[in-house]
Amino acid sequence: MMNREDTYNFSAGPSMLPLPVLQRASAELVNYHDCGMSVMEMSHRSSEFTDIFNSTKAKLKSALNVPDTHEILLLQGGASMQFSAIPLNLSREGDTVDYAVTGNFSKIATKEAGRYCNVNIAASSEDDNFSYIPAQEDLKLTPEAAYFYYCANNTIFGTAWPYVPETGGVPICCDMSSEILSREIDVSRYAVIFAGAQKNMAPAGLTVVIVDKRVAGHERPYTPLMLGYDLMIKKDSLYNTPPCYNIYLLGLVLDWLAEQGGVKGMEAIKHRKAAILYDYLAESSLFKPCAREGSRSDMNVTFRTGDAELDAEFVKFTKANGMFNLKGHRVAGGMRASLYNAMPFEGVEKLVNLMKEFEVQHHV
Ligand code: PMP
Repeated sequence: MMNREDTYNFSAGPSMLPLPVLQRASAELVNYHDCGMSVMEMSHRSSEFTDIFNSTKAKLKSALNVPDTHEILLLQGGASMQFSAIPLNLSREGDTVDYAVTGNFSKIATKEAGRYCNVNIAASSEDDNFSYIPAQEDLKLTPEAAYFYYCANNTIFGTAWPYVPETGGVPICCDMSSEILSREIDVSRYAVIFAGAQKNMAPAGLTVVIVDKRVAGHERPYTPLMLGYDLMIKKDSLYNTPPCYNIYLLGLVLDWLAEQGGVKGMEAIKHRKAAILYDYLAESSLFKPCAREGSRSDMNVTFRTGDAELDAEFVKFTKANGMFNLKGHRVAGGMRASLYNAMPFEGVEKLVNLMKEFEVQHHV
């Protein structure tokens, strides 16, 4: 038997949601605001849901400072569906597009774009198991590219771009799935930002897309209906049934976020939180960080002992102590601690204490 209060969930996604959000959702689950039904049971065209939808969008617009040039879409299909939507909406047959390959998901996105465009790999860090982010001067950019694509935070390998690439006017598309709402961004620099909700925003099933309205309306004629940005902008994401309950939960998460000082507040906290772990990794003689300094993610901290059996033993040890999902992704091995917005300081402190204890037990 584990108590929610005594356990910490380091899952990379779907991941932990703030406890006050779950408690509020639980209180409102059966009878939302005395309207006699659950949000799950409402028509997406009802006035109650319309209010939820509009207020959630307004909260997100304010949290990320989204300018009026950009539209927020609340869609289904996962972040992965945007791997197809981006080339279909932003490029024409024969166009060249630039991709930076810094992890598993940008690699998949690159392959998908290759079905529709000439893909130029502007940079890749696969030569060193995706342990670093290429420098601006190492990006081999195509001046006439239809767009440049990158993944801001590489969930599996624990790296994050420390800068926004300068592309000389080429529109930028960015996968922000695992860092959205954790740091301030200048939305106007991007043609498309997208993120699966299941890390920093809401349960799985909702995908947030922020698209510059000026790039919409140029999709290829055979673009599947549901992938067209123009249609979704015109229909305010309500062409078909949206992921209603997830949108409601995103609204609750955004209320909670505002109480924590908003994105600015989170940005200050996330770095201090990750530093607890990185500082310990710098001095540990047993555990080593996987990502190179200067490329490290505050959201997903990857580390290992160098001995797969010992890694497995450590994961078992943490689990027995109420610390869940520290096993690294199967393609990366080792351990990964995901420290999204909902992870409290105490979770990281407890993890470091357990690492110290384990290190003493397995003194090398
Ligand atoms: N991009 C990143 C950075 C991810 O971490 C993930 C996995 N959650 C995806 C894309 C794929 O997301 P989804 O499962 O929502 O398609």
